[in-house]
Order: sequence, then structure tokens, then C-alpha cells
Amino acid sequence: MPHRASRLAAHPASRPTRRAAPCAVLCLALGLGCNNGPSSASPPRSPNGSGPASSAVAPRYPRALIEGVPHVAQKPDFCGEADVEMYTAALGQRVDQDQVFAASGMDPARGMGATTRELKTALERLGFEVGPVWSRVPADDAERGLEAEFAALHADLARGVPSIVCMHFDDRPRTTEHFRLVLGYEPEADEVVYHDPAVADGAYLRMKRGTFLALWPLKYGADEWTVIRFPLAAKTVAAPGRAAGRGPADYAQHVMELRKKLPSGFSVVVEPPFVVVGDGGVDTVRRSAERTVRWAVELLQKDFFPAEPREILDIWLFQDAASYRKGCVELFDGEPTTPYGFYSSEHKALVMNIGTGGGTLVHEIVHPFVEANFPEAPAWLNEGLGSLYEQASSRDGHIIGLTNWRLAGLQEALRAGRVPSFAELTATTRSAFYGDDRGTNYAQARYLLYYLQEKGLLVDFYRRFAAARATDPTGYQTLAAVLGESDMAAFQKRWEAFVLGLRFP
Ligand SMILES: [Zn+2]
Repeated sequence: MPHRASRLAAHPASRPTRRAAPCAVLCLALGLGCNNGPSSASPPRSPNGSGPASSAVAPRYPRALIEGVPHVAQKPDFCGEADVEMYTAALGQRVDQDQVFAASGMDPARGMGATTRELKTALERLGFEVGPVWSRVPADDAERGLEAEFAALHADLARGVPSIVCMHFDDRPRTTEHFRLVLGYEPEADEVVYHDPAVADGAYLRMKRGTFLALWPLKYGADEWTVIRFPLAAKTVAAPGRAAGRGPADYAQHVMELRKKLPSGFSVVVEPPFVVVGDGGVDTVRRSAERTVRWAVELLQKDFFPAEPREILDIWLFQDAASYRKGCVELFDGEPTTPYGFYSSEHKALVMNIGTGGGTLVHEIVHPFVEANFPEAPAWLNEGLGSLYEQASSRDGHIIGLTNWRLAGLQEALRAGRVPSFAELTATTRSAFYGDDRGTNYAQARYLLYYLQEKGLLVDFYRRFAAARATDPTGYQTLAAVLGESDMAAFQKRWEAFVLGLRFP
């Protein structure tokens, strides 16, 4: 998969003070999914004395071991987060890896776990005093510098304080950086004892101290190496409250998966409950996410849809007809059947040619919300609401539909007597609605809802219909009741006159 290779190229491990998506790289190196970390068949190598020899005059360190720390398997790229979960669990204040990620302030749109900078933020927010975290070791006197770093790590272990270290996973050329939780030292074998969150049974693993010292420094500079260590000293650790529903960690994990198929040149913006991706540059994508998606979601939720879609959905914003067509062919099922955009519940995606404007986007946003809140809704209601808001504004803090391009065709059909009764429209099956050869279904449904909106009845109608769905599956009886109308033929006449009096533009 070339895009993953290019991702590696774009995120070299040589960036100072920043961990480069270790687990993603790790998975590439080992050809393994990261969900379970490397399998137990591939434990981190623990060569018997094969690591670079440490100083012959290395001081002896006494035994130290922090016992009773449970092991936690990391989610993809959440090695630092899982380390924190392990130790907070041992302290009786378990902060799970998702909560650690949330506390880190890491932007989920980056699709990676916390780097050193954000992990420091998370630990400090949780009540740890981690100190400076980054140390510099002169490359020409590395042995002495590393010995001092190890002595400090050991002194903390001796007083019962473990450390998270950022180190190379192993000594392979394309190895990655990885957070491990160091819990002890065994002098007999001269081994460091640690929990590895990427290893399924990775509790109390051992590594020769020489190997550890070879893998620990991050050689970002030719003259100066970086050593990263978080000593986990804490006065009081306070686990944050668990927010209901999805959180930043869920979006980060989703984006990690999404990036596997994301073509180059696409930007990612998280706008719950959606992840918005587009090829028009990050500013353009962000503008659509905030001005169109956030705006529509807030207003639609307020009046109609308290429940969010069950899963995170992707909104693909292709900047023009050519990229939209190409994207449909390469990423979805093939040639698009509409030039504007569509919602695919199968792909959990809204796919847009955003070059045609944001109207279709709002239209399509309605559909997954209907699916989540009123799954039995007939097509006429679903498409009526979607198309009502494809030309939308707000009035007194509520979303409203405006007249739009569908009006002219409807007026023409009304004059020609080609528009069916509402009894007929509302009873239309899904396949009949979409197979409409008169071409008036969308417009008739839209302007029925527009009429209700203008009479102040739309929200009431929607809620009563949703509540009465079992006894009135078409909505026709609810429509008559909300209108207070016993003669629906007379209503149809009034509605026709109303529609013929509308203007667009
Ligand atoms: Zn639609």
C-alpha cells in the first residue's frame, strides 16, 4: 500500500521531541495488526548479551522491582496511553487509555496516539509530576551520559517510582519509537524489567541493560542524542470522569483506519459525529466542517434528531466533478449516479462533489440522522426533509428550508395536473418513490414539509409522526391530525395554491 509507505516518508522518526507514529510503523515492520500488538510468537528480542556492551566500569545497581502492576494491551498506537492505564490501575485510580488520550489534548484528526509532548500534558493533568522529560546526551560522551540517565531511572525505581520511556522498539534498521513502562532492575542478569503494551502477554518482560541503553537514546542530532523518560511520581492521581458516548480516542482510532485508504492530498478534520476529509486543502475542509456540517448538525439535532448515528461516518468532499468521479470509482462502488453527492450507509460515508455547493451536503447529513432516529421513516419523509434543507437558513435559532430549484418543476406539474394526492404520495413504497417517473416525488414531499414549516407545524408533525409510527406508518393520518383537516382534498387545493404562489429565486 504505497500511501502507507509515503506516510512513513512524511513522518521520519528523526523529528525532534516527537514520536513518529510508532505503532503504525511497528505494524509495517512486523507485518502484523496492532490490535493485539506483536503476537507472543514475536516478543521483543532479548538477546543474551548481544546488545552493545555497556561500560566495563558500569556501577552495580541493586535489585528493584515494583510489583502488582497489571498489564494492558494497547489499542493501535496508544502505547503511551496504555502505559499510563497500567500504572494508574496499580494505584487504584485506573485511567483507561482512551481517557489518557482525551486528557492529552492530541488532535484526533492526526490519527495517531499521543506523542511525548501530549503524553506529558496528559500525565500532568492527571496529577503526575514528571519533570523535564527530555534530556540531552552528547554523542561523543554518550556512555557516561546514558549511565547517568539510567542511574536516575534506577534511583526512582528504588524509591518505588516507575518510568515510562520512549525508546526504539528493537535494533532493526526501520524500527520505530515505542513507550514502555519500566518497573524494575535485576542485577544478577543485569536486566531491565518492563511492561510492554504492544505485547499480548507483555508483563514483567526483561531486556539486557546493554540492549536497553542501546535502544533508549533517540539519535535526532549527530552531536546530541535525546533521552525521554517520564518518572511517574504523583501526589494524588485523579481519574477524570468518563464521558458518555464517543470521545476523542474513538475518533483518533477511526482516523487511523481511515488513513490507510486515504489518497495523498486529502486533509482530515474531526467534526462529530463525522470525520470530514477533502482534497481542497485543510482550510477549505475546515470551513465546510464548521460552517456547514457543525451548523447543520446542531440545528437538526435541536429540532429533530436527539440520537447521533451509531457509528462515526466519513464525509468525503471532492473539490470538483473530476476528483469526485475519480474518488467514486477508486474508493466506492464505481461511477456516481448523481453529479452532486450521496449517502452510502454501506460505506458509512457521505460522498460529495462539494464544487456544486454545500446544499447537497446538508441534504445528505439528514439521512444518517433519520436512520438513527426514525429508521422506519418512509422515503417521502426522509427525502422530503433532506431536500427541504438542501437550501437552508436559520430563523430564530431554528433551521429552515427556503424555496429552491425544485419549485419550477413542481409548479409545472401542478398546472399540468400531474401531481398525485397526498394519500398516494405518503403510501408510496420505497422502490416506487425512488423509481418515480413523473419526477415530482422529491419536490412534492419537500414542499409539503415546506408548507408545514411555514405554518409552524413541521417540528410538531415530525415528532408526532415518529411517535405514531407503529399505527400510522405512512404519516398520512398524523398529517391530517396536525393540519386539523378532515377534508384532505380541500387541503390539497389550498396547498397547490400556496405552492403556485411561491417564487424562486
Ligand atoms: Zn436524499
